[in-house]
Amino acid sequence: MKKYRIAVIKGDGIGPEIVEEAIKVLDAVSVAEGFEISYKEFLLGGAAIDVTGEPLPEETIEGAMNADAVLFGAIGGEKWDNLPRDKRPETGLLKLRKALGVFANLRPVTVYDELINASTLKPEVIQGVDLMVVRELIGGIYFGEPRGREGDKAFNTMVYSVDEVKRIAKVAFEIAMKRKKRVTSVDKANVLEVSQLWRESVEEVAKEYPEVTLEHMYVDNAAMQLVRDPKQFDVILTGNIFGDILSDEASMLSGSIGLLPSASIGEKHGLYEPIHGSAPDIAGQGIANPIATIASASMMLRYQLGEDAAADRIDRAIKQVLAEGYRTKDLSSYDAKEIVSTSEMGSLIAHYASK
Ligand code: NAD
Repeated sequence: MKKYRIAVIKGDGIGPEIVEEAIKVLDAVSVAEGFEISYKEFLLGGAAIDVTGEPLPEETIEGAMNADAVLFGAIGGEKWDNLPRDKRPETGLLKLRKALGVFANLRPVTVYDELINASTLKPEVIQGVDLMVVRELIGGIYFGEPRGREGDKAFNTMVYSVDEVKRIAKVAFEIAMKRKKRVTSVDKANVLEVSQLWRESVEEVAKEYPEVTLEHMYVDNAAMQLVRDPKQFDVILTGNIFGDILSDEASMLSGSIGLLPSASIGEKHGLYEPIHGSAPDIAGQGIANPIATIASASMMLRYQLGEDAAADRIDRAIKQVLAEGYRTKDLSSYDAKEIVSTSEMGSLIAHYASK
């Protein structure tokens, strides 16, 4: 029987509540599909500061590096807001991402029919949207040198090497192979040399994936198309700064922060987490929506562990639970038949996923 070791980082605020539910669902699908998962917990963020004085203890780095994948809740809260920058919870998360070498950020956006009114966009525009933004995470203008200020000028450098582009493009094409086999590469090649190199490098990689259709789109057009006709997209491949902006824009198509998962992956490691934060305003009340974290666990099965059938079970179960009208409090205004707690939602999804 296959066995996987998962490093679990619950974090702060609602983190422990939502991760608990993801584990419940993982346990259900591992039994159904015949594999084993063992979990080991590690501290990060405020929870780590309280115990060790550091937001990212050495033990957490080691535990994450030695695991097959990392499942993460969220970190942060007012209690730690006034600490110096290098001692703050989010510094721990940034350092962990760096230590794991995760260069690709994946954000799927699925619009569930039952929650179509949760979006600010018209139902006919978003019905059936199912896309994935693949963003390069550790290069581009946020990291390029030189950067700085001189007198009344300031400058940053947008830089990508062929290898950096090819590496992220491969991730996008591999994902497209598991989806609808379409990649839209987003750049600004009409103006930027770095985008021209991006385009050429993506085209090189595309030759290895003849089944995948590649199109190029300028970023300004992509921003417009995402709200005009988001159904045209399958996988959106883009660099760090464009991806930062487009992934937030895309996330709002679904209209609900409690539903959206993400993954940050590298050559070896992967960190799977909801896109939302630690929601201190609702922590400990049993009302947080665990679906984003459960969907992140599904991404972990699909993209890290290769357990696609188990991931399909989870994705189907989420759809089914929503179709039957079960809602956590955040979604109570959208065709709710029954309002359930965080733990009840986890149990329902685990139940449907094991059938
Ligand atoms: P947030 O995402 O935590 O919350 C924004 C709003 O959405 C809140 O009203 C919250 O109650 C609600 N919400 C979020 N997740 C929900 C869920 N699963 N179910 C129901 N409602 C949910 O963002 P924020 O309030 O700006 O930040 C709170 C803390 O989280 C801060 O300390 C911030 O630094 C941290 N944060 C952490 C991460 C991370 O760990 N990756 C990301 C963003 C923010």
